[in-house]
Amino acid sequence: MNRLLWDLQQTDNLITRLKRERSKLDDGTHARSERDTVQRARDESKAQLNTLNSQRSDKETELQATEEKIARQNSRLMNAKNAHEVTSLQRDIQALGNARSDLDEAVLMLMDEIETTSNQLVELEKQLVEHNVQTTRIERNFASETKRIDREIEEAFAMRKEVTAQLDADALKMYDEVTRLRHGVAVAVVENGNCSVCGNALTPFNLRDAKTQTWPTCENCERLLFIE
Ligand SMILES: [Zn+2]
Repeated sequence: MNRLLWDLQQTDNLITRLKRERSKLDDGTHARSERDTVQRARDESKAQLNTLNSQRSDKETELQATEEKIARQNSRLMNAKNAHEVTSLQRDIQALGNARSDLDEAVLMLMDEIETTSNQLVELEKQLVEHNVQTTRIERNFASETKRIDREIEEAFAMRKEVTAQLDADALKMYDEVTRLRHGVAVAVVENGNCSVCGNALTPFNLRDAKTQTWPTCENCERLLFIE
């Protein structure tokens, strides 16, 4: 059998392998999706921090106003004209004092929450930087590997063209037909007495015939058999 058919098969095997390799490349979809998740968490944390800061600012304004009121009522108390006014002002100052301690506590709690959220935000920003680095690395690798494999596929097709140009129409027809019938692989080679595709140990009878026939085949998988 013509050795060029075996050359053609090896070229096609190479093309198949390269295409498979290309389809298995990591294009970064997973890394991007993880990065986006971290980015959303970062954005939420940022928004939460803004809300907390504005709540704290509101409470502090309220606290300031309450303190001013207390000072005002205290100075009124100094100048109170009668017992009724004293009692009324004292009651008011008492209530304002309660409000102030509630506000104090609210501000302290907000400060705690702000600290926790700030720390989370710092951590998320750090993670986001790492995810961005990782994603970029994978995307760059995908781009360069795709380019390399595409170039190799192109070279393999050029090689294929050179081989097929030297084969006659009958041989090509036979090759295409067996390729179609045998799951994309038409030609096997004999390796240590075995068929290189199905692994079947070829009988001496099969081997002897293979040397003389025009289109020898493996008795097991029925692929065209090339003997070196
Ligand atoms: Zn076989």
